[in-house]
Amino acid sequence: MRISYIAGNWKMNTTKKEALDLVTELLNEGSFKNKVLIAPPYTLLDAISNAVKGTNLILGAQNMSTHESGAHTGEVSVLMLRDLGVDTVILGHSERRSIYGESDQIINTKIKLALKHNLNIIFCVGETLEERENGLAEKVVTDQIINGLEGVSDSDMDSITVAYEPVWAIGTGKTSTPEDADSIHRIIRNKIEAIYSKNVSEKLIIQYGGSVKPSNVKELMAKENIDGALVGGAALKAETFIPIMEYNK
Ligand code: PEP
Repeated sequence: MRISYIAGNWKMNTTKKEALDLVTELLNEGSFKNKVLIAPPYTLLDAISNAVKGTNLILGAQNMSTHESGAHTGEVSVLMLRDLGVDTVILGHSERRSIYGESDQIINTKIKLALKHNLNIIFCVGETLEERENGLAEKVVTDQIINGLEGVSDSDMDSITVAYEPVWAIGTGKTSTPEDADSIHRIIRNKIEAIYSKNVSEKLIIQYGGSVKPSNVKELMAKENIDGALVGGAALKAETFIPIMEYNK
């Protein structure tokens, strides 16, 4: 039986005060039957790390450099994330792929670097609207899985959660139907079984992301292959994030 895993990606939002207020509300008013992660911007990781220490709220980062250290102005390394108590890093988010040109190879380099330093990973995959309309959703997602996990071992897979996020559903208010999402999740699980084993594929947590809200979380989570949610907009307010993290309360 896989656990439910709800993650909030705050993207480039929140001042320090807003972030600390939000964490305080989540900790005071939320319950943590499910696994719950928040990924604030880099600038707030230190403050939020202190705020969540000793609680059930897991600290994530939204990205990291392909390099460990050195002359990479403006970048943040895996060592810096570890130093701040970050548990998990989100890699391959569609905004990193489409706006910042991150290829499968770049994402694979980051995945291997995160694994080397014992960071857990939420590895995002998903097709664009054009790719879906051209019947390419399955191929795009499968290729992203194969390329992103190149050189990743069976035992490394214990540190990896996959997030399926159809790009056309992110921040748009359009959600994949639970049936469509589940069918892509099944394709991902089958591909993981083919690359690794049934054991690895059955343990793998696959989150769905794309306009998840309190009103649709239950029907998504009811599907066999949907084990969690990666939440953007609705993660920015306790009143919308708490009902998602407590969808099965
Ligand atoms: C995301 O960016 O990962 C995301 C799913 O955003 P939203 O929930 O706002 O669609």
